[in-house]
Amino acid sequence: MYRQRVGPRFEHREKASQRIQAAPSLATQFQKLKSLTVGLAYFDHDGVTKNSQVKYEVNIEHAKSVLLFNCPNSECIRGDFDLTKELEEAITKRRKNVTGAISCKGWQSKTVIDSVHCHNVLRYTFDLGY
Ligand SMILES: [Zn+2]
Repeated sequence: MYRQRVGPRFEHREKASQRIQAAPSLATQFQKLKSLTVGLAYFDHDGVTKNSQVKYEVNIEHAKSVLLFNCPNSECIRGDFDLTKELEEAITKRRKNVTGAISCKGWQSKTVIDSVHCHNVLRYTFDLGY
């Protein structure tokens, strides 16, 4: 499959992956955290149509403390979902179960930059053990 190596979409992903690389692991960043299970459900911008759902146990020794997930909209520009702050807040407050939703802040495609937001929705759950 052809992958674009230039342009805003590529630059955005490059920056994101550099940020992830530079981040410490969850175990290093949050020494009290013993386990983390993340549930993700992706919805269209209407918030009703579910596209996919996953749930997985995070290996906190290896996983980075920056929690970024790709937007399922393959045309999305400068979007994606960043749950880094949400996770940090959950751990700081010693929460055991967290549910929430965020919408993609990107643009729907490269032809509508600065006019049409992507607004895909990610609903998430964290199950945390200390
Ligand atoms: Zn998006």
